[in-house]
Amino acid sequence: MGKKVSIIGSGFSGLAAATVLAQAKCDVTIFEKNDQAGGRARTFSEAGYHFDMGPSWYWMPDIFEKYFALFDRKPSDYFDLKLLDPGFAVFYAKDDVIELPASLEGIYELFEREESGGADSLKRFLKEAEIKYNLAVMELMYKPSLSLFEFANAAIIKNLPHLDVYNSFSTHMKKFFKSPRLLKLIEFPILFLGASSREIPALYSLMNYAAFNLSTWYPMGGFSKISEAMLAIAQENNVELRLNEPVSHIEVHNGIAKELITPRGSYSLDGVIGASDYHHTENLIGAKYRNYNEKYWSRKTLAPSCLIFYLGINKRIKNLRHHNLFFHEDLDLHSHEIYKDPQWPSKPLFYVCCTSKTDQNVAPIGHENLFILIPVAPDLKDDEEVRNRYYELVISKMQEILGEDFRKNIEYKKSYCINDFISDYNSYKGNAYGLANTLRQTAFLRPSVRNKKVKNLFYCGHLTVPGPGVPPALISGQIAARQLLRHL
Ligand SMILES: Cc1cc2nc3c(=O)[nH]c(=O)nc-3n(C[C@H](O)[C@H](O)[C@H](O)COP(=O)(O)OP(=O)(O)OC[C@H]3O[C@@H](n4cnc5c(N)ncnc54)[C@H](O)[C@@H]3O)c2cc1C
Repeated sequence: MGKKVSIIGSGFSGLAAATVLAQAKCDVTIFEKNDQAGGRARTFSEAGYHFDMGPSWYWMPDIFEKYFALFDRKPSDYFDLKLLDPGFAVFYAKDDVIELPASLEGIYELFEREESGGADSLKRFLKEAEIKYNLAVMELMYKPSLSLFEFANAAIIKNLPHLDVYNSFSTHMKKFFKSPRLLKLIEFPILFLGASSREIPALYSLMNYAAFNLSTWYPMGGFSKISEAMLAIAQENNVELRLNEPVSHIEVHNGIAKELITPRGSYSLDGVIGASDYHHTENLIGAKYRNYNEKYWSRKTLAPSCLIFYLGINKRIKNLRHHNLFFHEDLDLHSHEIYKDPQWPSKPLFYVCCTSKTDQNVAPIGHENLFILIPVAPDLKDDEEVRNRYYELVISKMQEILGEDFRKNIEYKKSYCINDFISDYNSYKGNAYGLANTLRQTAFLRPSVRNKKVKNLFYCGHLTVPGPGVPPALISGQIAARQLLRHL
């Protein structure tokens, strides 16, 4: 019998940890509070529509490949990846839309059309971004970040000036581009990191390399195909998945975690990985064993939450693409109302995903499947009245900008917001994407993967290293699993 390891949570980070530990011959059990694996990437089907509940942008395909290669597999062994062309569309106003082509040549042409010399500026910008990507994503992101010394190798020191850790992204991009439209396009990918471009280090222009050079993809069938693939690998390696079984307590004796307690029983263990939101996992152990207190958490910058509408429309909407960004309002004002002065946004920008443009199986024939997302500050008062107000606002705005009425064609509607994130995922303050990647919350400055007082307890997921998003969650689970293996 291998060492007994329990994993709390079956999101991407938990599944990644489980598969790596099972491959190392541990006896792994995953405890999941919900009735489905996948965490924030769960799905639901209603009225003939099939919705992905969370992630929709498949970026950094190399990180997925690297994960599957651990098991001698490829993503294509499990799902078909479709290249999206255009990668996405940005709506600035009615009849004013930019589409980002899939090919780099097409993107250069677009930049030149928007701004004289734009193509050359973009080439220089992306050349720097590529260096950052190769160093930061392929090397630094896989480090456990337990100490500064991990980053003291020759390649990193030599390339430190290229990493641009001390400039803000906002200052950096303005050195290359002047056009407000291009600046919005360049700024958009870093919004995933959960802070405004003034707070995010210029290092993260690597996200533009990911978006522009590595393209935007869609796993046919939706994001659950990825968690299903990971679960298949887990189950081949005898991982047990216990759904509908929330962990309520981790029993610790003399600095060693001994047992997990759930409403169905208690389970002895040799090691445990908390793949639920970090703040919640800490609350499963006695206060004296926690890494951080409430004061610490209250000072942290969380990535945003969001208000989502899942809609089924009984007709096609002509001007929508697969990914649509409605950037008709001031990005700075919306960012300010998320990060600096948290409140419901006065003039929200929003994102619309229309998977039925690519995937016939997500809506009845001739219908559209829409996912509308408004980023909002975490911890706001969330109620039906607010949700309805924003629903009316976004539908009116979409109709105006797209030049097409579809309100009367909405035959299915469900909203999802802060209160749901808390009740479904034990999310801290209802965050959607974890902890932001600001300069003070990057690498070893993020909550540690290791519990400093409980030897066999480690954490993974989007509140620890390396950060928010699906590719980082895949890496985070691998890091935590390898750390635990060293201690078993
Ligand atoms: C709406 C939305 C859109 C997003 N879009 C993108 C995108 O396009 N691209 C991208 O890369 N990323 C995106 N993200 C971010 C990405 O989905 C997350 O960062 C990532 O999935 C987090 O994975 P995780 O394993 O850390 O956490 P989770 O997926 O939240 O998994 C944690 C799991 O722990 C379970 N759990 C909690 N408490 C307990 C308990 N006590 N006992 C047992 N189980 C418990 C939860 O139910 C959950 O299943 C999006 C997120 C959201 C919400």
